[in-house]
Amino acid sequence: MIEQVKGYTKSGKVADYIPALLKANGDDIGVAIFDGNETCFSEGEHHKPFTLQSISKVLTLALALMDHGEDVVFSKVGMEPTGDPFNSIAKLESHIPSKPLNPMINAGALAVTSLIKGSSNEEKLDRLIQFVRELSGNSQITYNQNVAKSEFETADLNRSLAYFMKQHGVISGEVDVLLDFYTKQCAIEVDCEDLAKIGYSLAHQGEHPDKNYSIIPFEIARLVKTFMVTCGMYNASGEFAIRVGIPAKSGVSGGIVGAVPGGIGIGLYGPALDEKGNSIAGMKLLELISAKYHLSIF
Ligand code: GLN
Repeated sequence: MIEQVKGYTKSGKVADYIPALLKANGDDIGVAIFDGNETCFSEGEHHKPFTLQSISKVLTLALALMDHGEDVVFSKVGMEPTGDPFNSIAKLESHIPSKPLNPMINAGALAVTSLIKGSSNEEKLDRLIQFVRELSGNSQITYNQNVAKSEFETADLNRSLAYFMKQHGVISGEVDVLLDFYTKQCAIEVDCEDLAKIGYSLAHQGEHPDKNYSIIPFEIARLVKTFMVTCGMYNASGEFAIRVGIPAKSGVSGGIVGAVPGGIGIGLYGPALDEKGNSIAGMKLLELISAKYHLSIF
């Protein structure tokens, strides 16, 4: 199937606002599908490492909900899609009381990240990485220091979102301490197979195939997947729901995780992005996979 979407990479562009991401090869496209059996079905650049970027927002949301429960988390972040770009500041001011609209946009993710329990950034990151390792079954997962540093040095838009929210009491503490953790969270490195297994765990209410206990409580996995449907592809989530119909989350590194409820997990990588920041070939490939195997949840 990769061959059918390769041409789409040409009409996209690798993210450049995080300088380290510019090193990616825009022609790359890879996919892995995990159905709970030992091996993944994989094609293309499925072993190339890439950083989670916004895909991490799904995982921090699950962890924050496990840490604090719904009442605390949703006192800091809303549940509505925005229709704005993922890094927009506009709705923060217009939406009283300045609470970010959802956890999948940057402002909302920063608010959620500020809730992760731990006495230091090191401890928080350690907990998050451990969580990702458990969900993927890959104990080698860590974060890419160069990408984290590159984003930290250039994250002034995210800093401004955080300062705005600090002023309005959504977050507290040092903004740069939060940015340090957030940029490391975004720089956690995976490949398509790791992502497919994470998708599978989400698809099966947090149950990992190799373990007979659930890593994420049923209710939290349900909630997270719902956000993936309504806000997972940023301001392209509506069209994506129509064309693909699979709970999914993208990141500007070109990754997309898909979780078919009760079914397969899908991990995609294609760093050439469309103007909304989604992998252009990755989305097309998901559309083909969904149509061929009748995977739309609608
Ligand atoms: N780290 C990125 C940022 O905050 C994540 C955004 C994304 O993947 N859309 O800008």
